[in-house]
Amino acid sequence: MTVGIVGAGITGLALTQYLRERGVDAVAFEATAEPGGVIRSTTVDGRVVEHGPQRTRLTPEIESLIEACGIEANVRTADPDLPLYVYADGRLRQVPFSPREFLTTDLLSTRGKLRMLAEPLTEGANDDETAAAYFVRKFGKEAYHNVIEPLFGGIYGSDPAEMPGKYALQTISRMERSGSLLRAAIRRQLDGKDRKPPVSFDDGMAQLPRALYEHNADRVELETPVEGIETAGDGYRLDTAAGPRTVDRVVLTPRADVTADLLSGVAPESAGALRRLRYNPLAYVHLVSDTEPAGYGYQVRHDESLQTLGVTWNTSLFDRDGVYTCFLGGMGNPGLVDRSDEEIGRIAKTEFESVLGVSAEVVNITRHRRGIPAYDGSWTAMEAVDLPEGITLASNYTGRMGVPARVREGKRLAERFASEAETETEPDRDRVAAEATG
Ligand SMILES: Cc1cc2nc3c(=O)[nH]c(=O)nc-3n(C[C@H](O)[C@H](O)[C@H](O)COP(=O)(O)OP(=O)(O)OC[C@H]3O[C@@H](n4cnc5c(N)ncnc54)[C@H](O)[C@@H]3O)c2cc1C
Repeated sequence: MTVGIVGAGITGLALTQYLRERGVDAVAFEATAEPGGVIRSTTVDGRVVEHGPQRTRLTPEIESLIEACGIEANVRTADPDLPLYVYADGRLRQVPFSPREFLTTDLLSTRGKLRMLAEPLTEGANDDETAAAYFVRKFGKEAYHNVIEPLFGGIYGSDPAEMPGKYALQTISRMERSGSLLRAAIRRQLDGKDRKPPVSFDDGMAQLPRALYEHNADRVELETPVEGIETAGDGYRLDTAAGPRTVDRVVLTPRADVTADLLSGVAPESAGALRRLRYNPLAYVHLVSDTEPAGYGYQVRHDESLQTLGVTWNTSLFDRDGVYTCFLGGMGNPGLVDRSDEEIGRIAKTEFESVLGVSAEVVNITRHRRGIPAYDGSWTAMEAVDLPEGITLASNYTGRMGVPARVREGKRLAERFASEAETETEPDRDRVAAEATG
């Protein structure tokens, strides 16, 4: 069996590596000259800046990829106990992650805290409600407004009131199976599942996909976009810039609109549905400041008069020479990414300076016009996606978005293909054995 993988972002690269480990033949095609997809790190004036993800959790799967590539010495680990803040009512307030922080935080009133504790008495998720309605019902309006909306909405740059629970709450629904989210969260803490430290690498997040690429360079073709997919016998022909390649299975990892173009020949209806999925536009502004407060950073409450959605304190997390990454835009401010560099930079700098009371300089601006899957009402289009056998979508719009989840999906798929390859070779083996014994 040969698996053809479109895209060498972290999903495609993890899949390539796991298939190698399982002895399954694979070839990955990457349109650009760089592996890593949205994971991109560069150096500006000697400082590492992250244009995509700022960090990942050190899950067992990511640890095993790091070991396979031999980059253990380059891992930078942040203190998992660093505080995370929400900017609310004009100042930074600490998000509670432990029972002691829950008792002392000023993000919630006593009444708000008591309402949160009533969560085990509430009913589970139902498919017809939005993420916002679900969270308000579970934890009360105050906890939603002050904690959940800035954190959950902040991750996607979305408004949870626009996010159907059926698509946006899949992980949470799984956690809820034990009966209560609070109980599940406490159990995760006790089991250490929430204690996996945030990590990056000496050269930034992109060091992991680069190392994975180098480890699998014989199976990854850079600067080789796939331009079309056609059926060919029991498999598929990938039309690439370097010529056609026939494969038995196809895995598509690019964004939904790009994938739609590739599927238009073999699955036109699914292609039409994928084109409807919306992504939220984001602008990243990298600032440098002499101040070094300790923490992950902060998210901004929805009703504050700032355009900044949140700020990662890279310098505190990974010792990045005064670098801070500000996120602006999202579903509520889609036109922001179209403003000039000067304007976006000025907004981020002024708001950062007013929140932290320190001065900062803009060193870089990055735009993601189709950045983060919105998980909004457009996701109902996924109901119309029905692909021919042998074609699989594996990307951040079909499953969870974070790097650990992308890597896990690569591993799950490799296991599935390895087992299918095994089953498909069994009849051959039986035939050879029968012929040998006459
Ligand atoms: C701005 C941003 C910030 C994020 N922050 C975090 C974070 O802090 N922590 C975290 O865990 N996760 C974060 N995420 C999520 C996570 O980084 C992504 O979900 C993940 O990296 C996506 O990887 P992927 O391989 O599935 O897709 P992609 O990275 O999009 O890779 C797809 C690849 O396909 C290639 N391609 C496209 N068209 C073709 C073609 N025709 N032929 C061949 N190749 C093609 C592309 O060039 C690209 O390399 C963030 C995501 C974004 C966008």
